[in-house]
Parts: sequence; structure tokens; C-alpha cells
Amino acid sequence: AASGKPARGRKATVIEGVAITHPGRVVYADNGVTKGEVAAYYAAVARWMLPELVNRPLSMVRCPGGTESACFFQKHHAAKLGPSVRAVPLEEKQGGTDDYVYIRDLKGLLELVQMNTLEFHPWGARVDKPDAPDRIVLDLDPAPEVPWKAVVAAARDMRGRLREAGLESFVRTSGGKGLHVVLPFRRGPGWPQVKDFCEAFARGMVARQPELYVATASKAERQGRIFIDWLRNARGATSVCGWSLRAREGAPVAMPLRWEELGKVTGGAAFDLRAALERAAGLKADPWEGIAKLQQRLPKP
Ligand code: ATP
Ligand code: MN
Ligand code: MN
Repeated sequence: AASGKPARGRKATVIEGVAITHPGRVVYADNGVTKGEVAAYYAAVARWMLPELVNRPLSMVRCPGGTESACFFQKHHAAKLGPSVRAVPLEEKQGGTDDYVYIRDLKGLLELVQMNTLEFHPWGARVDKPDAPDRIVLDLDPAPEVPWKAVVAAARDMRGRLREAGLESFVRTSGGKGLHVVLPFRRGPGWPQVKDFCEAFARGMVARQPELYVATASKAERQGRIFIDWLRNARGATSVCGWSLRAREGAPVAMPLRWEELGKVTGGAAFDLRAALERAAGLKADPWEGIAKLQQRLPKP
């Protein structure tokens, strides 16, 4: 490149040693958020996001043409993703193994952003023991007519029920319509046991308040209710990572919250890129402080 050329004329911007090409390209057509802003966003929130993301197999939502064009889920590794984007060979359902993606640091995160990743969806297990999960995500999916207050009440209800079982949990907005209640636990039980626990727990909530909750994916039964989606807790299933952008209108973010903050939040997409940046800048402690140190055992279903 010719010397003296202004920075904004350059083709790439370098963040943490990772070249982000076409930083001026608009990714979110509705609000003008660019690829460079997406990269800067992830660099700014990485401190809070990486603990949930690193060393877990992950699926990405990549949108090479921005959110207005086709986006796709990708879970398999490819060398072109970047040198800090790691591969872990995992058994496939249909037999054989294939390389799955995981990252260990900010470089890996930014290399995936360079490859037009917008959303990050980790497993509930770590790469060293993919068959020994350590995290459950109970996903609250309200039918369209359910008021937000009822979704908040459902998450609190869930927290209370888990506490009765001696379990601490954490909450985040999904960046979409609902909330996720996240339950960390000591590795030990396998995926089938974990899935049984989740199903029994969801069905227990439905049995108490069938007018409020459903535990089956059937659309007809969901009318006016909140679907407690426990099905995300199987080998290979994922949930969106806290602080991940969503490839949806407005650049919403899945936001980890303190339970005390939940009452002030107005919806599943209450935080967008800008609000999340502001929050990250002002945070003194992780809203999920203590999650890594919790050593709770999952009870038998
Ligand atoms: P919302 O609040 O709008 O429901 P969500 O992220 O919870 O947002 P869901 O459709 O309930 O969206 O899905 C829950 C999780 O399941 C997602 O976060 C994602 O990780 C995973 N998921 C959903 N659809 C797919 C898909 N087509 N392929 C792979 N994973 C998916
Ligand atoms: Mn959901
Ligand atoms: Mn769901």
C-alpha cells in the first residue's frame, strides 16, 4: 500500500492481530452496522463472552452477504476459517468422526468474525469430554400473545424450582423472543441422563401450571403458553452464547443478566449491539459472577 494513504481508505483493519477485510461493508442493512463494527464489538465484549465460549464445540451462524441474504449454520471445521480456529474430532450420529470447530481465545473469535460469523452457539460440554456435559440451557419460548411479564415470571419460577433442588441458575435474554435459564453442574452424568433430568424438570413445571407452560414442541398446544424447550440439552445441540449478536433485525444481543436486573428488562431483544457495548464498558463484574466456581451436582431426575 502507498504510504500516506488515510486509514479509512485501506481495505482491511487489524484488530488484535487479525485482519478484518471489508470493514466498511454493511452487515445489518436495517441500521447500517458494518463488519468492522461487528469485529470491534466482539473485541470489546470478549472479556465477558469468552469464558462461556472457549473450549466448547460450537456452531456458527455465518452471513457472508449480511443479514438480508442467506445465512447458514456451520459446525464443521475447515482450514480456511483461520489458524486460531481449532478442530476437534467428534463422533457423528451416523457413525465415523468429523472435525468440529472450537476456539481458545480472542484471536479465534475474530478469525471467525473475519469469516462473517455473526452468531456463536456453544455446546453444553467441553472439547476434552464432549460426552460429559457441564451445562444445561432451559429455553423459554413464549407464544406470540404471551406478555413479557409472564416470561420473566416463568424464569423466576424456574429459578425457584431449581433452588428447591439445591441448584443455582443464571439468566440471559436470547436476543430474540425469550429467556434462557442456564444451569451449570459438575461433570459426571452423560447426555441421556441430562436430557432425562431436563425433560422431568420441564414436565414438572407443566404439571403444576398447565395453563402457563407446555413441554412439547407441538404448535397447537403452545397457544397462549410458554414452551419450556428442554430439547437443547442433547449431544450436538447448542444454545446461543451470552453476548452473541443475532443475525436478526436491529443487531440484537443475547445478554447475560443478574437475576436482580431481570425486572428492568423489556424483552428478549432489549439489548442491541450499541446497548451491549455500553453495558460492557460499564460492567465491574460479570453478571454471571461465580458461575465457573459453582460445583453443584445434578440430582437424579
Ligand atoms: P428465541 O428467543 O427467539 O427463541 P433462541 O436463540 O432461543 O431465540 P430457538 O429457536 O428457541 O432460538 O433455539 C434455541 C437454540 O437452538 C438456539 O440458540 C440455537 O443454538 C439452536 N438452534 C435453533 N435452530 C437451529 C438450527 N436450525 N440449527 C442449529 N441449531 C439451532
Ligand atoms: Mn428460544
Ligand atoms: Mn427453543
